[in-house]
Formats: sequence, structure tokens, C-alpha cells
Amino acid sequence: MINATQLIHSIPTDPLTGSLSVPIYQTSTFVQDAPGVNKGYDYARSGNPTRATLEDIISTLEEGTTGIAFGSGLAAIDAVLKLLKSGDEIVAVDDIYGGAFRLFTHVYEKFGIKVHYTDTTDAANVFNAITPNTKLIWIETPTNPTLKISDIKAIAAIAKAHACWLCVDNTFASPALQQPLLLGADIVVHSATKYLGGHSDLIAGLVVTKEEALGAKIKFIQNASGAILSPFDCFLVIRGIETLQLRIKQHCINAQIVAKFLQDHPQVKNVFYPGLATHHNHHIAKKQATGFGGIVSFTLKDDTQEAATAFVTNTRYFKLAESLGGVKSLLCHPAQMTHKSIPSEKRKAAGVADSLIRLSVGLEEADDLLKDIKQAFEKIQQVCKEKFSHVESITN
Ligand SMILES: *Cc1c(COP(=O)(O)O)cnc(C)c1O
Repeated sequence: MINATQLIHSIPTDPLTGSLSVPIYQTSTFVQDAPGVNKGYDYARSGNPTRATLEDIISTLEEGTTGIAFGSGLAAIDAVLKLLKSGDEIVAVDDIYGGAFRLFTHVYEKFGIKVHYTDTTDAANVFNAITPNTKLIWIETPTNPTLKISDIKAIAAIAKAHACWLCVDNTFASPALQQPLLLGADIVVHSATKYLGGHSDLIAGLVVTKEEALGAKIKFIQNASGAILSPFDCFLVIRGIETLQLRIKQHCINAQIVAKFLQDHPQVKNVFYPGLATHHNHHIAKKQATGFGGIVSFTLKDDTQEAATAFVTNTRYFKLAESLGGVKSLLCHPAQMTHKSIPSEKRKAAGVADSLIRLSVGLEEADDLLKDIKQAFEKIQQVCKEKFSHVESITN
């Protein structure tokens, strides 16, 4: 885990005024002493002191050289894709974030960029998918919503041997648990909307590069394409990061308790959580991260959308919403929400069963969360009984 003291003190005090919190420079432009002579800033798309502070902080936390802040996680991903040109190819994790899949497939394939999706939980599959045109390997670990784990170090070695970049979407782990650049990755991206912001009150994205030259290229794209993060949202992400370590610790503790509880529950079929010894790549998660995160997914023995709907509409503390990583617990039903647009057979093949439910375990008391889950399971039984009695009344 990142050292909490270092994390807290990576956030600077204002050298001009001594302000303990980072000031919000809400301005579009900066007065120049003479043409081209300024105090380091000229126009706020190109650079803003509040944003520069956030960019330095995330670069420090990921142990890279360059941080670059964007208006959303997808804008950050988009900026990385713009490093490529027509004819280049990407090897990507098959269980990729839906928005990234949409961007790769429906925007970039049109410009002649080819994407090969493969199961990156086995690094040999990455090796086999590489062609002479591969420029970028794209992984998420853990993935959404089935929490698959890929070996960053092994895949980084493959990337290096083939002279392509490895980009890791580190949204689920956050730098508090996992630092991909130290394991050999070239680029890290974040949806700072999730754990970094941490309070479900903003949309933001971040990129960090290991090498300065690559960072300069993405900074150029940030200014050229213009999808920057606003000063106020930069301030909010910085404020979120102040408590990242403390929040992540508790997310991990609560999620482990919830995962164990689900694993022992008679109405549950499978639990997906890298912190369980039964998880397929538990040993890799243990090796490359200092904790297993706050997201837990599970399927029901009654593997139907109806049963899942009964569950997700009957919790009190787990609020039904897309997104994750905030203080309040959330849950979602991917088959009807985030993965609705994927044809049913394809969705199931990717491990997203009809009854799969994803929990973003928040910072409430773990006991209250377990009580909430217990009573939702009882509601499913009631719904099923009603369904059964309805069938009986028809047959009678
Ligand atoms: C949410 C998310 C994104 C997209 O980020 P936005 O901030 O919503 O644009 C990308 N990757 C992962 C893993 C995510 O969870």
C-alpha cells in the first residue's frame, strides 16, 4: 500500500498564499508581461495551476513522470488511443469496460485501427494475439463486472519484447492498491469518477506515463483535442485523494466480509472477488496488489433476471445505480443495465450471467450491509413463492 503520509503530503500547500487546500484557479486566461512572457501559464486549456497540481499528484502516486487530467475516464482513454494511427492494432482484454469497447469498436475501427480481444488472464493469449502491427496492449485488472485478474508483469514483458505499449486501466484497484508502472506498464489510465474522486460527485479521467517523452505526446493531445478537466473538478478529485488510503482500506475490509458471507449463502451460486482463495487468479492478485478492492460480483442459484431484479430492488443501503467506488454502497444488474446492449448469448459467454449482480461495497458498517443483503435474499424467496403459487393457481 502507498504510504499514507506520503499520499497526504503529495498534496502541496499553495506557495503564493500559504493556503492549506489547493486553490481553484477559475480563469480562462493569464495576463502576460510581454508577448510570450508569462508566469508559466497562458491559456487555461493548455494549462491551469489547479489542474497541474492534480496532474503532479497522480503522477507521484503512480510513480510515473507525467500526469494528464481529462473531463472523463473515457476522454482519458480516447487521448491514449490517439497515439495510434491507421493500420495499427490493439490487443485488448475481452472483459473490457463497455464504454472502452464502444470507443474502440464504433469510433476507432472506423479510422482503420484493429482491435483483437482476448482472455488476458492467461498471458500466453496476449502473446498469441500480437501481430507485427500491434502497437498497444490494453488491460484492466480487476475487470468489470467479473473481477478477472491479469498478470501485469508478465504482460509488460510481452509488450516490451514486441516494442508495443502496455496500458493498464487501474480504475478498480487505484494506486493505493496497485501501481502498474512499477510492474512494467507504460501507461496507466483512471476513471477518477470512481475511487480517486470517491464521493460519487464528479466525472473525471487521468492518464499517467512512465516515460516523459510519451507523457509529452499525450499532453500535446490533451491540448490539441481539448478534453480537459475543469478547475473545480480538479479540486474535488484532489480532495477525494486526500482520504484515498483510508477509504480504500475500509472498502477492502467490507468487501472481503461481504464476499465471504455471499460465498456461504445457500441462494448464491458463484462469488467473484479476487480476495477469495477460490478466485481463479487469487495468487496473481496477491502478488501484484496490496488489497483486493471494493467490488464484489455474484450469481444466484435461481439464475434468472427476475430473481436478480427482486434482489436489486429490495436492498436499502445498496442503492441501485451505475458507477462504483463511492462512500455509499451501490449495486447494479449488468444484464439489464451496463451490459444490456450486448446480445444475450455473447453476454453469457463473457461470464455475465442473467442473475449476475455487481456490488460496490461502500463505507457503511459491514454488519448493516450484511443485514441488508440477508433481507434482500428473503425477498427473492417471497417473490419466487408468489410466482410458484401463481403457476399452481393456473394449473388448478
Ligand atoms: C467508469 C469506468 C471508465 C469510464 O470512466 P468515465 O469517468 O465514466 O468516463 C473506464 N474504465 C473503467 C474500468 C470504469 O469503471
